[in-house]
Amino acid sequence: MERTYHIELQDFYAEISDTAKHLWEKGWAERNGGNISRVIPKSISQTPLACTKERIPLDEPLPGLANRIVLMTGTGTRMRDVAKNPQDNISIVAISEEGKEYMLLSSDIPPTSELPSHLRIHNFLQLNRKNHNAIVHSHPTNVVAMSHLKNFRDSRHFCNTLWKMIPETYVFLPRGIAVLPYLMPGSSKVADASVNAFSQGPDVIIWAKHGAFAIAPDTNDAFDKIDLIEKSASIYLAAKSTGEEPEGLSDEDIEELRQYYNL
Ligand SMILES: [Zn+2]
Repeated sequence: MERTYHIELQDFYAEISDTAKHLWEKGWAERNGGNISRVIPKSISQTPLACTKERIPLDEPLPGLANRIVLMTGTGTRMRDVAKNPQDNISIVAISEEGKEYMLLSSDIPPTSELPSHLRIHNFLQLNRKNHNAIVHSHPTNVVAMSHLKNFRDSRHFCNTLWKMIPETYVFLPRGIAVLPYLMPGSSKVADASVNAFSQGPDVIIWAKHGAFAIAPDTNDAFDKIDLIEKSASIYLAAKSTGEEPEGLSDEDIEELRQYYNL
């Protein structure tokens, strides 16, 4: 039975493996840093295997995930190992019929400690932004460096600065970028703050002094969003290191992009 599962999930293992490879090669996933999760389409239904597993209660009901399977990088796993051997490093989490419990189908691979945040964000996405099935968290160096600067505590200022470094950042992330204050990783406060931030509309949130969290239809799209903000942050810091404040695109330039691309 377990083998059947692995065959059905093959495309999704390949997708996550590809994203993990990018995160490792970019240098945004030191040691066991970062995590990835992916909700599997309804068409790949739960097999009777789920019925044989222990049911673990969720802290709160997640009706948007009822009867769904979520793949998630395992706790303590390295992205470089996820890339090489996804089947041995990704947890298979099955949510029960009413969304009140979960079953771990990959009993020897417990999920990331960020499981509660991921599940709560996925629940929100399934109920409110239905084509968004993937979450990627990583530690993009220049974005995190900028989040240490007091001048960038303000979300709007951070977002505007990144938008104005290259046109693509605005064109592909017109819903904006939110910045949250530092919070203890894995805590319920992080989960609350993240769901609240995503409900305001952005595709990417930055946890100050920690990392980025992106949502998208698939994990490679989510990676692209972090790649865009990291590119903007690296351009900002490179220009700033000359001693001058980077000029950035003007408000008129941004408005022209908004109209041209109908954003
Ligand atoms: Zn992290």
